[in-house]
Amino acid sequence: MKHSIQYGKKEIIFKLEHVDRKTLQINVCPDLSVEVKAPKEAEFSKIMAKVKKRAKWITKQQMYFTQFLPLQPPRRFLSGETHRYLGRQCRLKIIKSFERKVKMSGGFINIYLQNPNNSKEVKKMVTEWYRNHAEGIYQDILNNCQNVLQSLKVDQPDLKIRFMKTRWGSCSKNGKITLNSELIKAPKNCIRYVIIHELCHLKEFQHSKKFYKLLDQCCPEWKQNKEKLSQMADLIL
Ligand SMILES: [Zn+2]
Repeated sequence: MKHSIQYGKKEIIFKLEHVDRKTLQINVCPDLSVEVKAPKEAEFSKIMAKVKKRAKWITKQQMYFTQFLPLQPPRRFLSGETHRYLGRQCRLKIIKSFERKVKMSGGFINIYLQNPNNSKEVKKMVTEWYRNHAEGIYQDILNNCQNVLQSLKVDQPDLKIRFMKTRWGSCSKNGKITLNSELIKAPKNCIRYVIIHELCHLKEFQHSKKFYKLLDQCCPEWKQNKEKLSQMADLIL
């Protein structure tokens, strides 16, 4: 039987089995599913309470396994294929046209080009389009972080964008902030969290207690954003 409990904003779904054993056992599987084995005579309300008590641990295990999940199959840049933009799912629509352009409308990313079968060119156009939007949107979000910059007492840094395989953002010792071009696929509040995380590094370079105190002050909802981002990571990177 499948059941679920609520942990913060997250719903943890688990499979419950009554077996011949004396204690309750919770397993988190590498595919992120949760299995609970309870003694035959265990009361349902007590099982729910026990699972709830382990919710933090369950979430932590799931996040750990997220990194090993198979990556999304390589994109082929064909019409109908789903891509993400600011957390939303969009579909590619490739349209034969003499004008070369990319335009988003409704849930579609429309790609206009002379040869619709040239998926290499489509890929190039989509990648450029993402990057241009990333530049504008990251900059806007940073510009809207004036209160964070003020409370940290740091100057607004320049942003650099590049593709990174394993991280969303980085901050160098000399105060340069780099953001992953792929971050444009995540929701805006997740992008904002990554930017604020890096801004906090301008003040405290290590992930020290002091760092997390700053992060708590500047972005109280950072944990939810981080979790959302880690859930999306396998879909994006
Ligand atoms: Zn960091």
